[in-house]
Amino acid sequence: MRPTCKRCGAGAEIFLDYARINLCPECFKNLFERKVRETILRYRMIEHGDRVAVAASGGKDSSALLFVLRRIFPDLELSAIHINLGIGGYSDECEQKLLRLTKNLDVDLRVFNLKKELGISMGDFRNTVYKDRICAPCGTVKRYLLNKLAFEGEFTKLATGHNLDDVAEVLFNSYLYGEINQLVRLKPVLPSTHPKLVSKIKPLWAMTEMEDLLYASYCSLPFRAEECPFSRGTRSLERKKLLNDIAIRIPGFKHTFVKSHLKKLSPALERSVEVSSLVECELCGMPSSSKVCAFCKRIELAKGGKISNPEI
Ligand code: AMP
Ligand code: ZN
Repeated sequence: MRPTCKRCGAGAEIFLDYARINLCPECFKNLFERKVRETILRYRMIEHGDRVAVAASGGKDSSALLFVLRRIFPDLELSAIHINLGIGGYSDECEQKLLRLTKNLDVDLRVFNLKKELGISMGDFRNTVYKDRICAPCGTVKRYLLNKLAFEGEFTKLATGHNLDDVAEVLFNSYLYGEINQLVRLKPVLPSTHPKLVSKIKPLWAMTEMEDLLYASYCSLPFRAEECPFSRGTRSLERKKLLNDIAIRIPGFKHTFVKSHLKKLSPALERSVEVSSLVECELCGMPSSSKVCAFCKRIELAKGGKISNPEI
């Protein structure tokens, strides 16, 4: 017999294993929107007068984020920022899907094209010490540019599509290697610590990757289906699979892991970590913990400059 929706009794299509409930698509969409709204309010992510820029990759998470923000806060000042990473057909598809989505939503889209504006593409890092580990420099470049564009656009919040699975994976990895600074920075809201750093928010913090996919699909959003070719087989994906296996045996595992960290451990860790002071990068003037910022070092490396250890 077909299961029925716990909320309205119609035919259910979705089973949320962590909550053990069946839902129909309409009730699922309502629940998704309610949960995102609750997360935003609980952590005071968006306040009156905020100008919010969504870091939009063209994937399911940030596309769901843009759509849900427009739905639950119709009057919010909202824009999208996209970095075209120059990864062939993959990047073209991301940009095309975003052009459609933002047009449908009547939201401004600022596209920064790495190749056109900096003369490099992510693939150039293959010729450096990173070889096929492109995700590391890619993360640095994206974080820097998204912040810079949000700062220049005078946005007060930069929203990313990080979901519960992303957070649990970073948490797992940080505990594994004792990355205390990373553990402390893993929060739903990262306040600004420098006039040129825009506050970061993660409104999908409590939503699983599967929920984002279902929401984006049931709302018929245009989003790119394929994963980044450079992310195939990475350790981070392997760790996500492992955490999903645990969640099959312990329903709600990822929710509990993230919740316990934030509520009980994060405050204690925060008290024991010193905040590193920031200076302005000699080359670009953006905030940095060393004379030349991580972004400028990576870009020089991709252009064939001689930096023996870009991690320093
Ligand atoms: P990732 O680091 O690829 O897992 O992406 C995490 C979040 O960063 C996404 O949900 C987006 O909000 C943002 N993001 C990733 N890639 C891009 C991009 N190319 N342009 C703009 N934002 C991005
Ligand atoms: Zn710099």
